[in-house]
Amino acid sequence: MERGLISMDRWSEGSQVYFLTHLHSDHTNGLSSTWRRGPIFCSRITAKLFPFKFPNFDLSLLRILDIGSWTSVSLLSPSAGSKTFVQVMAIDAHHCPGALMYLFRGEFGYMLYTGDFRWEITSKRARVGMTMLLNALEGHRLDMLNLDNTYCNPSYYFPSRKLAAQKVVDVIAAHPEHDIVIGIDRLGKEDLLVHIAQALKIKIWVWPERLQTMHLLGFHDIFTTKTSSTRVRAVPRYSFSIETLEGLNSMRPTIGIMPSGLPWVVKPHQVNGSRFSSLLSVSPHKGKLLLNGTNPIVVEKLIRNSEFVERSHEYIYSIPYSDHSCFNEIKEFVRLIKPLNVKGIVSSSSCYVDPLYHLAHLFSATKPLHLRKLLPQQLEKFRREERDESMETTKPESMLGSDNWTEAGWKRTMSGNINIPASRLSRVSVIRRSQRGVKIVEDDFPA
Ligand SMILES: [Zn+2]
Repeated sequence: MERGLISMDRWSEGSQVYFLTHLHSDHTNGLSSTWRRGPIFCSRITAKLFPFKFPNFDLSLLRILDIGSWTSVSLLSPSAGSKTFVQVMAIDAHHCPGALMYLFRGEFGYMLYTGDFRWEITSKRARVGMTMLLNALEGHRLDMLNLDNTYCNPSYYFPSRKLAAQKVVDVIAAHPEHDIVIGIDRLGKEDLLVHIAQALKIKIWVWPERLQTMHLLGFHDIFTTKTSSTRVRAVPRYSFSIETLEGLNSMRPTIGIMPSGLPWVVKPHQVNGSRFSSLLSVSPHKGKLLLNGTNPIVVEKLIRNSEFVERSHEYIYSIPYSDHSCFNEIKEFVRLIKPLNVKGIVSSSSCYVDPLYHLAHLFSATKPLHLRKLLPQQLEKFRREERDESMETTKPESMLGSDNWTEAGWKRTMSGNINIPASRLSRVSVIRRSQRGVKIVEDDFPA
């Protein structure tokens, strides 16, 4: 597999086409308003938010993919001196607004790049995505799975977001005289805030930039920038700290709620000779040690029956509301699609775990890295089918000027290149239905 023909969430290397899974800043590192390297495939929502994050970006470079249908991309295979045929299908990643997984098929077989994803099997959206993915695979094994391995360690178990959201509501309702601050990023956790607002029949304060994002996402009546309108405020995660909360408490009683999957592990312990478990917030490094050998079924039960709300400080509650899959969900996902090879997309972080370490027994990890080739007849069949599918490339509808938009959060190094066999780059054509065809010629790309 050569490098540099298709890039996933990577912007520093020359490729023929680029795919953006979502707009969290650890996936856009290197992308800027002056981007000219080539076309970027993304979701409709991402395209809508794009000018907000990258003012003055040349929006003609964006290619919108709607979920659930195959789109053909023709790349030049210099080794063969001819076009090589790649198809891509976008699938809902159920992470933050606009987040996609990308399924590719071509001479190299089938590959899936999950980006950040939550495979929440109790949710209808995840079940729709699962059906879409299995139908798209048509019984084929996945040759390569590029997996969100953020929580790929048995240490990480957390409940559904629905359940976690209700716990957040319970904590707020239990503090009727307090102001509440909730730490969030610049994108994501909107469903949690909407759930709180609807359950408690209140508005939620957000900072002005975040209000613009909410409006772009279609939330017009739930959020406000007037502090006098509500006692619940969603604040940037970077401003959420013990010091801030201590300062706020010197004026009014205030509690902070941090919704995140990161700090949660289960710690078994003994009380008066009986075995109990509690959920603790610890560093991920410690977490690995604490849960080694703990039966996952037991832990699941504990989580269901537990309050799983930790008061990690006098003023702070941590609740495991996560937009990433926990270990059990990752395991179910891998078990379901049975990939021949798996590679983690998070290659460097405080919680990096090589998926092979914990998941090897679920797929053919002992086999040498080898990708099956699809037969020419299969490729022609896909090509024919795709001609019948609807597909469109639409320019984002709205543009909003704004200050630069940078994401607070974990810094991660993405290993996101998907390399399609070919050896040099001279031209890209994106095959479209004939009446709406778009062809990108070599002048559009750097040498
Ligand atoms: Zn993300």
